[in-house]
Formats: sequence, structure tokens, C-alpha cells
Amino acid sequence: MNKDKYDVIVIGSGGAGMIAAITARKLGNKVLLLEKLSKLGAKLKATGAGKCNLTNTLSNDDFMNSFGRNGKFMRKAISMLDKNDLRDFFSKIGVETDTKDGFRIFPVTHNSSTIINALEKELNRLEIDVMCDIKVENILLCDSKVIGVNTNKGELKASNVIVATGGLGFPSLGANGDGHLFAKDLGHKITDLYPAMLPVITKEKWVANCTADTIAKAIVKIDLKKAKKLKAVGDLIFTKKGLRGPVILDFSREITPLLEKYKEVPLLINMVKGKNEDEIFQHLKKQSSLNPDYNVVQLLETLLPSSVAKSLCMEVKANIEKKFKEQDGQIRDNLVKIVVNTPLTVIDSVGFKQAMITRGGVSLKEISPETMQSKIIDGLYFCGEVMDLDGPCGGYNLQWSFSSGNLAGHLYK
Ligand SMILES: Cc1cc2nc3c(=O)[nH]c(=O)nc-3n(C[C@H](O)[C@H](O)[C@H](O)COP(=O)(O)OP(=O)(O)OC[C@H]3O[C@@H](n4cnc5c(N)ncnc54)[C@H](O)[C@@H]3O)c2cc1C
Repeated sequence: MNKDKYDVIVIGSGGAGMIAAITARKLGNKVLLLEKLSKLGAKLKATGAGKCNLTNTLSNDDFMNSFGRNGKFMRKAISMLDKNDLRDFFSKIGVETDTKDGFRIFPVTHNSSTIINALEKELNRLEIDVMCDIKVENILLCDSKVIGVNTNKGELKASNVIVATGGLGFPSLGANGDGHLFAKDLGHKITDLYPAMLPVITKEKWVANCTADTIAKAIVKIDLKKAKKLKAVGDLIFTKKGLRGPVILDFSREITPLLEKYKEVPLLINMVKGKNEDEIFQHLKKQSSLNPDYNVVQLLETLLPSSVAKSLCMEVKANIEKKFKEQDGQIRDNLVKIVVNTPLTVIDSVGFKQAMITRGGVSLKEISPETMQSKIIDGLYFCGEVMDLDGPCGGYNLQWSFSSGNLAGHLYK
């Protein structure tokens, strides 16, 4: 094992760790990058379903606002490496990027391997020492100052350590919370950790009948007094046990903390492009007169996929052989209500195993937003998902990993 002293050891080869190593090296430091898996960038490879949604076209302010109240912590990091700088960085190492939908930015190859290969080539070109299959076990200190790391293969010395170990989601791709343990051992607070960006499980079993259908632009709200303002819009997909699809992946970061608190999270879902009860009633009346032979399910099929139309009729105990106007008045009212606000109750999530991101992490209160350095330990830096910052789907989390990694790599004191 190389026992030389490094200026900086970077723990973790995700987007955050690789760019931190590259930046530190370009600034003249002697750098060692450590990865416990046998290959670099395992999670990066899986991103965007293998296409790697690197970033997006939002303005820097809108981008930061999307991370919620912690978003302003990102200002310095984003000002030093925003979406344009990131695209320039990749262009200079041979990766061109594009945006087909005007929002999400991908490598033109739409293949995450292009990104990983280019980063690896750059690590080589800069003669950065890289070791895989080596697990950091703890960070070594002397007088509250970093002096290196202890690994499963022995000690390694460095004046600075950058923790880029990711969150807790998809542990099969490397990140399993080691960085949180290192930080906690050194006196950092770790905020509550929740799985986010993942499918959820509902109490209602009828969803299983609707797995073939996608609902475009569904509006999902949380039916809890304290969360009335929370709402998300996007495509919704039913699963055998609950819900997935972009709107749920995004919204799950709001749902899982509430789930822990309340055990059940009631949702109200509008699957009819935001139409209200009156509009739905008028629509059904008009369609009834245009199609006098339609039974109630056929009538609802003018608004919703067949499986969903049938399930909602069954939920309100409508007689599905009969026409809308032949149903009991209360059932007609209930049907209009359930179409406008379909209640579903989240009782669980699929957990960290399938969580694309982690909500929570090393508390931002003890990290300088100007440097990414610990306010407690000299020479200790953090970057990427290990910190208490998480964004929605759409290139937000990778941009943050790269921006924070770049800033940490400057090793500003
Ligand atoms: C399936 C999936 C798809 C996603 N798609 C997108 C997307 O398209 N766009 C987007 O913006 N975000 C996406 N995300 C989220 C994004 O991938 C993460 O937020 C981001 O990769 C985090 O980067 P990171 O560098 O902080 O951590 P990671 O990429 O998780 O890297 C951490 C690395 O540290 C290593 N490590 C951990 N502990 C140790 C240790 N003790 N010793 C040595 N090494 C260690 C791990 O093995 C790992 O390689 C996706 C996530 C998943 C799971």
C-alpha cells in the first residue's frame, strides 16, 4: 500500500467524488481517490435509466429553490459550477450534451458510460491515484485536524479528506451511509434520514387492477391539515401494490417523513387534468346525451382509462351494468367526487433498497457553504448526497453532486 502523504483523500467515486478529485488535482494537489466497489461511478452508471440526466436548464435561482429551504446553501457551489459550466467541463473532456425536451440535459450519446469513461480518462490524464476495492472505515484525527483515513487495507495519510460517500439509497450501488457514520463520529449532527424518490404502497388494493395504465398530468395532494400546501403534478402509474411514476417519485420525498410521523398518509389525486366537480358533472351529462346506450363505466371511460373507470365505479358501489342516470343520486354524487379527488392512503414505501435519493444527511449547520469544509474539524470536507440536501427528479441531484464536489475540491480554508 502507498504510504505517501497526500494533500487530499477523496472517499467515494460518484459524481461528487470524481469531480472533487479532478478539481483538487488541477489546483496542484496530490490526490488519492478511494472507492470500495470494484468499479468507479456505479450509481452514476444507473442514473436516468442508464442515460444520465446530468442537469437541467433552470435558472440558478429556480434550481436552488427546487431544493426547498436548504437551497440557498448551494449558492456558492452553483455560482462556481452551474449547468453551463458543467456542460463546458464535460465538453472539454470530450462529452457533448443536449436537451431534447428543452429541460433535461443528457450526454448526446444518452449513455451514462460516456460520462464515466470520460471522467476516468481525466483522472488518468491528471495522474490522480485511484484505488478501488478499498473501504474507508474511519477518518483519523490529531488535535481536531484530519491526518488521514483508516481502511480495511490499512492507514493512509492526508492533510485533508473529502467525504463523497453518497446517501443510503440503492445500497447495491455502493452508498450505504458510511459517510454519515464518519461525520457522526467526528461530532457532526445527522438529520433524520428518509428514503425518497421511490414508489409507495397504498392501503387500497384496487390499484392492482390498473397497472397497465398511465395517467398523464395527475395532480397529487396530501390530505393532512399540516401538509395542505404540498402538491405535485405529473404522470402517475399504478403498481400491483401502490403508485409510481414521475409525480410519485418526486412527491415521495414529502410523503416518507410524514409516513414515519403519522404511519398513514392520505392522498387526494385528481386524474382529470384539474377539472372540478361541476365540470365533471356537466361532462358526464353531455356524454350521456351523446351516448345514450353507455353504461356508467363506458361513460367514465370518456375521462379515464377503462381499468380506472371500472375501479372507481366499484369503489362507490355503482351498478356497473346500469347507466349513470339510473344510479342512485348519492352514488352519482360520490362518483363525481371520487373522479375529482380519488382518495388513496400511503401505508408504506419500498424503502432505501429502491430509493433513488436520501432525504436528510450531514446537517448543513456545521458545514461552511463557502467551502464545504466542516466547521468542527479542520481539513474535513463534504460533497454530494451525503449532506442534508435533496432535489426532485430531473438532473437536480447530479448537478448538486458535481457543483459541491467542485467546490470541496478547491480545499478552501
Ligand atoms: C437508479 C438511480 C437513478 C438516478 N437518476 C438520476 C438522474 O438521472 N439525475 C440525477 O440528477 N440524479 C439521479 N439520481 C440521484 C443521483 O444518482 C445521486 O444523487 C448522486 O449520484 C449522488 O452522487 P454522490 O457522488 O454524492 O454519491 P454516489 O454516486 O452514491 O457515490 C458514492 C460513492 O462512495 C462510495 N463509498 C461509500 N462508502 C464508502 C467507503 N466507506 N469507502 C470507500 N468508498 C465508499 C460508494 O461505493 C459510491 O461509489 C439517481 C439515483 C439512482 C439510484
